[in-house]
Amino acid sequence: MHQVQIKNTKETYTVGKIICLGQNYLDHIRELGSKMPDRAVIFCKPPSSLLANGGIIKIPDYSNDCHHELELALLVGKTGKHIQEKNALTHLAGYGVALDLTLRDIQSEQKSRGLPWEIAKGFDTSCPLSDFIPADQVSDPNNLQLKLKVNGKIRQQGNTNQMMRSAEEIIAEISNFYTLETGDIILTGTPAGVGRIKTGDHLEGTIEQVGSLQVSVA
Ligand code: MG
Repeated sequence: MHQVQIKNTKETYTVGKIICLGQNYLDHIRELGSKMPDRAVIFCKPPSSLLANGGIIKIPDYSNDCHHELELALLVGKTGKHIQEKNALTHLAGYGVALDLTLRDIQSEQKSRGLPWEIAKGFDTSCPLSDFIPADQVSDPNNLQLKLKVNGKIRQQGNTNQMMRSAEEIIAEISNFYTLETGDIILTGTPAGVGRIKTGDHLEGTIEQVGSLQVSVA
């Protein structure tokens, strides 16, 4: 059982699904040389992929190319299906800072063979996640600065206003495929600047108004 917490409260949520959006920032699609997707690219990480703030990332030995992807995380606080965009944000309990760690070599290999690439995305510790800030403390989730430093150097920098799908559109679209349940977490995609992490690296992700996340690589 994996729990997440609303910061500075005793409010906790048992994590259900972790649903991730791929290719939601144009500059990241370009840097990977991917084609523009005509519908949302959605995949899931298992709850066993979660890593708490301050934790240690363990890169699996079957990969030589683990990448960081800094992302705004949404915590679902109210169950819904076919959620309308205008009501979408009322389904959220909070916002957090997440990393969608990706074994890029394994992902590329699986993609080239036309196979699902979740083994590149769902390994243990592949989802470092901060505590959540209450949803009503964020004025606009679609206008937040994101920054990731590795060993003190800026690697990723962007703003959620560069997302091709807004938080509302993401919630509405995902809820057409899956019932969103209390405790589900949504990762909203990453801006450009993804890159390799290696043993001993220290990662610090920050999102304006939301908070920060610090993890290290074993
Ligand atoms: Mg991602």
